[in-house]
Amino acid sequence: MKSSIADFAVISPRTLAEALASLRQTPPPVPLAGGTDIMVLLNAGQLEPGVYLNLYSVPELRRPIEVSAGVRDAGTWGAGGADPPGEVRLSALTTYADVRRHAEVRRLLPMLPLAAREIGAVQIQSRATWAGNIANASPAADGVPPLMAYDATVELSSAAGVRQVALSEFYSGYKQTARRPDELITGIRIPVPAPGSIDYFRKVGTRKFQAISKVLLAGLVELGGSREIRKIRLVFASVMPFTYRARKTESVLEGRRLEPGAVSLAVETLRTELKPIDDIRSTARYRLKVACNLLEEFLGTTMGC
Ligand SMILES: Cc1cc2nc3c(=O)[nH]c(=O)nc-3n(C[C@H](O)[C@H](O)[C@H](O)COP(=O)(O)OP(=O)(O)OC[C@H]3O[C@@H](n4cnc5c(N)ncnc54)[C@H](O)[C@@H]3O)c2cc1C
Repeated sequence: MKSSIADFAVISPRTLAEALASLRQTPPPVPLAGGTDIMVLLNAGQLEPGVYLNLYSVPELRRPIEVSAGVRDAGTWGAGGADPPGEVRLSALTTYADVRRHAEVRRLLPMLPLAAREIGAVQIQSRATWAGNIANASPAADGVPPLMAYDATVELSSAAGVRQVALSEFYSGYKQTARRPDELITGIRIPVPAPGSIDYFRKVGTRKFQAISKVLLAGLVELGGSREIRKIRLVFASVMPFTYRARKTESVLEGRRLEPGAVSLAVETLRTELKPIDDIRSTARYRLKVACNLLEEFLGTTMGC
């Protein structure tokens, strides 16, 4: 049964300072961004009655996507072997549609538009935010894995100040996050990967589009001159109780040459590292099999590059 709307109040602050001050109340109001997760709960009668904090009314939270000047001008990266400068910053209200439309983000961080196009349909993509996807902490969140593979940082603001938390450190269990109730996610900062990095994004669901993931892998690899793996990121959704970075498998690969033996070793390590969930969408056995297949595909195609 639907929740009764009379059980809910919404406050609409005009500034970020007002919004952060309101979060000092006990209990603090619950942030409301695009509402595409919250309204589903309301409709299902599962939303906690209480006060909600409308972020749409706060102009500081809807800054356009920022691409640092160093990145914009860096047409000659890699020529001198230097690391690429700069980063991309999404604001709290950046939507999937904003990312799909942004030519520089498409060029610099290609996994983000790939994820965005697979999230819901156009209506959801136009309303739902990346920050809401992070804060909602679903193990099946599709926006979180590519951000984590790119080493994104979450900017958390409260009346006491701002702190940065690596997205890979943000989750500690099912729906457990590093965000305190008095904090808002005010930005997501994404360093631009080194030139020549190879990425991989694949969502496996019951349908090609408009499906909740059964298994998703976002991967990023940086190879050295002798094809040795300088850095690798392997991030899975829908496999563990929260978005999971497979650090053990990453560490057996880092420093090795990318060759068939390394691929087999990585797949064997992943098989023991993952402890997949079993739920109505899929079985643990299927998830483990598909996660290993995706890793093999990612490393196999990278070997051929
Ligand atoms: C039809 C439909 C299809 C969908 N398809 C997909 C899909 O394919 N893949 C997928 O990953 N998701 C999907 N979703 C889920 C949802 O759209 C995403 O998780 C979305 O990114 C949530 O963003 P939002 O702005 O709507 O969040 P909201 O619903 O406003 O909030 C979600 C949670 O985040 C918190 N929150 C929001 N913003 C902040 C902030 N700035 N600081 C602190 N806390 C905050 C809220 O308090 C709440 O707990 C779908 C939803 C629907 C209804």
